[in-house]
Amino acid sequence: MIRQYELIERVKAYNPEADEGLINRAYVFSLKAHGSQVRASGDPYFTHPLEVAGLLADMRLDTGSIVTGLLHDTVEDTVATLEDIKGQFGEEIAQLVDGVTKLSQLELQSDRAKQAENFRKLVLAMSRDLRVLLVKLCDRLHNMRTLDAIRKPESRQRIARETLEIYAPLAERIGMHQVKDELEDLAFQHLFPEARASIVQRLAFLRDEGGDIVDRIIAELTDILNQGGVDAKIRGRQKRPYSIWRKMQQKDVAFENLSDIMAFRVIVPDLATCYQTLGLLHHRYKSLPGRFKDYISTPKPNGYKSLHTALIGPFLQVIEVQIRTHEMHEVAELGVAAHWSYKQGMPQPADMPKYRWLRELLDILEYAQKPEEFLEHTKLELFQDQVFCFTPKGQLIALPQGATPVDFAYAVHSEVGDRCVGAKVNGRIVNLRTSLQNGDQVEIITSKTQKPSPEWERFVVSGKARARIRRFIRQQQRDQYAELGKAMLQKVYRQEGYEFVEKPLEVVANNFKLPSVEDLYAGIGSGNVPARDVFFAVYPGHKQAVQQRQDNVVPLTRSRRPGAERDPAVAIRGLIPGISVHFARCCHPIPGDRIVGIVTTGKGVTIHTIDCETLESFYDTPERWLDVAWDADAIDEDAHTARIHVVLANEPGSLGTLSTVIGKSGGNITNIKVIARSTDFFDLLLDISVTDVRHLSNIIAALRATPVISTVDRARTG
Ligand code: MN
Repeated sequence: MIRQYELIERVKAYNPEADEGLINRAYVFSLKAHGSQVRASGDPYFTHPLEVAGLLADMRLDTGSIVTGLLHDTVEDTVATLEDIKGQFGEEIAQLVDGVTKLSQLELQSDRAKQAENFRKLVLAMSRDLRVLLVKLCDRLHNMRTLDAIRKPESRQRIARETLEIYAPLAERIGMHQVKDELEDLAFQHLFPEARASIVQRLAFLRDEGGDIVDRIIAELTDILNQGGVDAKIRGRQKRPYSIWRKMQQKDVAFENLSDIMAFRVIVPDLATCYQTLGLLHHRYKSLPGRFKDYISTPKPNGYKSLHTALIGPFLQVIEVQIRTHEMHEVAELGVAAHWSYKQGMPQPADMPKYRWLRELLDILEYAQKPEEFLEHTKLELFQDQVFCFTPKGQLIALPQGATPVDFAYAVHSEVGDRCVGAKVNGRIVNLRTSLQNGDQVEIITSKTQKPSPEWERFVVSGKARARIRRFIRQQQRDQYAELGKAMLQKVYRQEGYEFVEKPLEVVANNFKLPSVEDLYAGIGSGNVPARDVFFAVYPGHKQAVQQRQDNVVPLTRSRRPGAERDPAVAIRGLIPGISVHFARCCHPIPGDRIVGIVTTGKGVTIHTIDCETLESFYDTPERWLDVAWDADAIDEDAHTARIHVVLANEPGSLGTLSTVIGKSGGNITNIKVIARSTDFFDLLLDISVTDVRHLSNIIAALRATPVISTVDRARTG
């Protein structure tokens, strides 16, 4: 524990004019306020604010920061009030302490959305004073250093995760690399102890293997630079375990293949020498293409300047080299704190062009629609391949980049995914294929009658959604095939003059190596098992009789005997029995239309109207065309969906008139889509279920006779 006089000495060393009396009063105030409180470690609580003040002194910050460090937990954890602090230390200190207190309070909330909200308020307070954040980071750093004392593993994990997700990125954003590195490393240690241990162990092994390789490389580099007339200080280090781990994750490489685990920093007297040094090194060693970065001519948004390069250095080791001046180095290590040290006083960020990046950050906070965006911004660097969205209750859902509301729905719950019919993003209804953005609030609209659509599979990106949809489609397909297969088998029985009985099929299924009768039906429906073979398996004696009969008869495949039993499910002539039939969604054929069938592998036959534009894409595969026609003998009671395009006057009641006319003609509107809407007209696509083309013609005629309707046509595409 630092002693009172030691703290004062540390501050006086860089700021002889520091208000010693104020620091002493804060020391005593905090000591008394925390009284006999102890930390989880058993140490007196006061050691914590004192250490935090010490860290702030190491960053050479002003008296206000040091005093705030000492007082930062008094309002939150003791009987002291903000009023007390204002009375004894003045308005400025009270505001700083209040800022840190609010940041600490938000840590107690589990709700992530609220957290972001508080965060935003806090960081807005920071716009008046960035020192709040500096104190908070030192507070967090000390807590992380002493995290071992926290007994509950869940608490340790939560704090470590929060550090990794929020505080380390914040430290990086304001350029405090030293703090960022240490926070990351400590959090890493608690979150992934095994991974860290194994990396540390292997680093140690390498060190033993290579002996003092870092020192030898430094000696060689120094030599080369000295010969070139450059006076440089070189420091070498192995990269931190956490950054090695991240590299292993991001690039998906094994430790053995991570050649550049050593980094060297060359500090030179001035800017020109930076480039001279670079020249000398590139002249002597091969540089790795794509690794050179000039952050001097184009500094990072947080003010960071350096030259970065990677070389195949001495001993043929790949090494990373950063070249910078002493001043650049200060900024790199301490970031904003270096600028904000006591000498420069405490300027307002808005006045300083140097802090443009900070201004921009604040603008995001001030003008962003959603406070959650900020939380996401601070995490962005860690999770660029992911997108984070919120449920209406504020639960955070992580999804792969490019995720849609359907992915979101499945991530919330499989049931929600299966029943999803629509979505609201930030309160507005959106298309289910919309790509979600960071911070979006997503509300899924469900319906009990909804089922997963095969269409979804084309745009979902998450594995969970895709797997669920596929499974559902497979199941549905199997059900369809089973239904079709049973109907086909029943037909064979009828044709052969037998009554259909299901019972014997249980044995027959076995013969076909299928686990159940249901699977047998599905096999027939999908065309894998011929229906006749199944029939003959049940009645082996019947086979010969049929064989003889068939010698005299032309096999029936593409045509039908007039008046013969037809497949009741499909009133279309010319189809190979047993193939499943779909009506194309592009042209919506209805009985009476001239039609053609297109064979689609695995799906059966799709029926198009003869004038459908989609057919063009099948011109070069004539073998897929089937000559089909509606079965005129068939009394088709089934409803078919036709699509019409209507332009309607935009006036009160016109939509009502439209639906009345269709209803009176016996049509049923199943779907309405507004394509365009102007002050004068609605442009609509209507799906209507009708019995056949004559029915549709009647409806179209009735609509054309209606005054509010400007034009009506059959819609051929879209
Ligand atoms: Mn604290």
